[in-house]
Amino acid sequence: MINIQKIKQDFPILSQKIYGKELVYLDNGATTQKPIQVIEKLKSFYSEINSNIHRGVHYLSNKSTEEYENARKTVKEFINAKSTKEIIFTKGTTEAINLVAFSFGETFINEGDEILVSQTEHHSNIVPWQMMCKRKGAKLVVIPAKANGELDLEKYKLLLNSRTKLVAVAHVSNSLGIINSVKEIIDEAHKVGAKVLIDGAQAIQHLKIDVQNLNCDFYTFSGHKIYAETGIGVLFGKEETLNQLSPYQGGGDMIKTVSFEKTEYADLPFKFEAGTANYVGAVSIAEAIKYLNNIGLQEIENHEKELIDYATEKLLEIEGLKIIGTSKHKTSAISFVLEGIHHYDAGLILDKLGIAVRTGTHCAEPTMKHFGITGTIRASFAIYNTKEDIDKLVLGINKVKLMFG
Ligand code: PLP
Repeated sequence: MINIQKIKQDFPILSQKIYGKELVYLDNGATTQKPIQVIEKLKSFYSEINSNIHRGVHYLSNKSTEEYENARKTVKEFINAKSTKEIIFTKGTTEAINLVAFSFGETFINEGDEILVSQTEHHSNIVPWQMMCKRKGAKLVVIPAKANGELDLEKYKLLLNSRTKLVAVAHVSNSLGIINSVKEIIDEAHKVGAKVLIDGAQAIQHLKIDVQNLNCDFYTFSGHKIYAETGIGVLFGKEETLNQLSPYQGGGDMIKTVSFEKTEYADLPFKFEAGTANYVGAVSIAEAIKYLNNIGLQEIENHEKELIDYATEKLLEIEGLKIIGTSKHKTSAISFVLEGIHHYDAGLILDKLGIAVRTGTHCAEPTMKHFGITGTIRASFAIYNTKEDIDKLVLGINKVKLMFG
């Protein structure tokens, strides 16, 4: 059984008071807080190990490189990739998607080809594809969502055709918390020969990910949403596919030899890691994964499922509150609106009560358009949240309602 009080103590930031109130941090979809184990690891790395990777012959450089490459192994095992060659460190999910949009676009996309994204994507999984389509004369096609926020898979299947070259969907929608049926989406796309990129930014910290079982061609996530540092993320890509792609950026570390006449690129994964990588960030991801593995991924999933079910039940008891995205398949984020109260005003008052929630469009304007709203209030949970946090949110919302008469 998971001991949340003990887990909470691992996160120093959570013990502070905000405006004299105990902090209730429910903005984990935006970023998660960091456990002391990750903070200490960074401290010891900078105090004892730090040196640039892959370059030096000296002790510290070798040690740094070893930690970086061990971090790659940890990530490989965490998502069950076949090889460390399939793990590319990036700045985050956004850069990982941009990398694929550029490199896949350069290699495989021609005029008239189609890229499918869904109605409920984060802007990071829309804009890079739009830019690629503009560059290559390809067409962006939208997989529609149903009234409950789930993707319409019947319509999706009808959109797939021989021109479809890539399908890019979120594993979990950031604005609604809905778990998309990615396995089915991937299998259907493969039937027409299209590749699939899964944006796992909101899934990796909540669900056990097995990229071989999913059979996705690309999977992306960000360190800062999985209890690690900012400025680091992961792109998983199948080795065979990555080998076919042209590099994203040029620079140091991604080459074998350089002359003014010709440059030979490095093998995977280095071909896609130009310049000094955020090796410290990578080490922080490995430490965060170690932390999660120690708790147990199934325990985390169970705890967070309990939280989302409890939050749904309690929030639905509030008169005038409407949940946006009513699918039953959700994890760790719940979006809602309050009748007659602007989400921004609600967020400001909740903040004064020590409750941190997200308000607005959540970088998902097309999702808001689908529901005919300008934004929502989003409470998103992590391993350290409790049912008491949800009770405080409910009390807070009732206070907001009282203030607005
Ligand atoms: N995709 C989804 C589903 C997200 O929730 C986010 C961030 O909130 C992103 C992509 C972008 O992540 P990052 O800003 O870490 O690159």
